[in-house]
Amino acid sequence: MRLDILTLFPEVFAPLFASIPARAQTSGRVKVELHNLRDWGRGRHRQVDDVPFGGGPGMVIQAEPLAAAIRAVQALDPKPARVVYLTPQGTPLSQAMVEEMATRPRLLLLCGHYEGIDERIRETLVEQEVSIGDYVLSGGELPAMVLADALIRLVPGVIDSESVACESFSTGILDHPHYSRPAVFEGRSVPEVLLSGHHGRIEEWRREQALLNTARRRPDLLARVELNAAERRLVGGCQERGVPSEP
Ligand code: SAM
Repeated sequence: MRLDILTLFPEVFAPLFASIPARAQTSGRVKVELHNLRDWGRGRHRQVDDVPFGGGPGMVIQAEPLAAAIRAVQALDPKPARVVYLTPQGTPLSQAMVEEMATRPRLLLLCGHYEGIDERIRETLVEQEVSIGDYVLSGGELPAMVLADALIRLVPGVIDSESVACESFSTGILDHPHYSRPAVFEGRSVPEVLLSGHHGRIEEWRREQALLNTARRRPDLLARVELNAAERRLVGGCQERGVPSEP
C-alpha cells in the first residue's frame, strides 16, 4: 500500500516512522510519502491560504495550490490514489471503513488547517471525507496519522493476522481481557482457566468475557452481532443486572 500525505506540517509525522508503521515500511509492504503543500505555494513566502470570501475569522487553504499539489502527487505513481480529506465534517472513522480503505493500493490523505480548504476542492478532487470524531482539532495531521496507523496494521503481513482477527470491532464486539506474568499481582490472580492449558475452555471463556465486556462498555455494538441463545442469555443477564458502564 502507498500512502501519500499532503500537509503543511510534514515534520509532525514522526509516529509514522516508528514501531509497527516503521517496520511495515522497512519490509516494503507500505510506502508513506510526505508532501509539503508549501511547495505549491505562491511567492517568496510560499503562501497557500487567504481570507474567506464574505468575511469572518480565520484563513482558508486556497484551491489553486491544493489542486496543483494533488495533481502533482497523483502523477508520482501510475496507480491512481483515492483522495481522502480529513475533516470533522466527514464520515466518522470505524474499523469497517478502515478495512475497506485498506483494500486500496494507494490513498492520498489531505490535511486541512485554519478554517479548512476551499469548498471547490471538496467538490471536484476529494473522493472521501473522514472524521476521527465529533471534536475539532487544529489540523488534519493527527487525524491523518490515526487513519494511516489503523490502515498500516491491516496490510497483510504487517502484524499477525490472528491478532487482527480477534481485536475489538473486527469481530463486531470488544476484545476479551488480557493477562500476563505474574500469575498473582498485588493479591489479584489471573483467572484459573487461563492457567489450565485447556484451549477449548480458554476460547469459550474469552468469547464470554468479550461479550460481557461489550455488554458493559459498549452495549450498542451487541445489536449488530449475531448471538446464539446462550450468548443472548449471558449478555441479557448482564444488562438486566445493570452492570455499570464505564465512565
Ligand atoms: N472550520 C472547520 C469546521 O468547523 O468544520 C474546522 C477546521 S479545523 C480547525 C482545521 C482542519 O483540521 C480541518 O480542515 C481538518 O483537516 C482537521 N480536523 C479538525 N478536526 C478534525 C476531525 N475531528 N477529524 C478529521 N479532521 C479534523
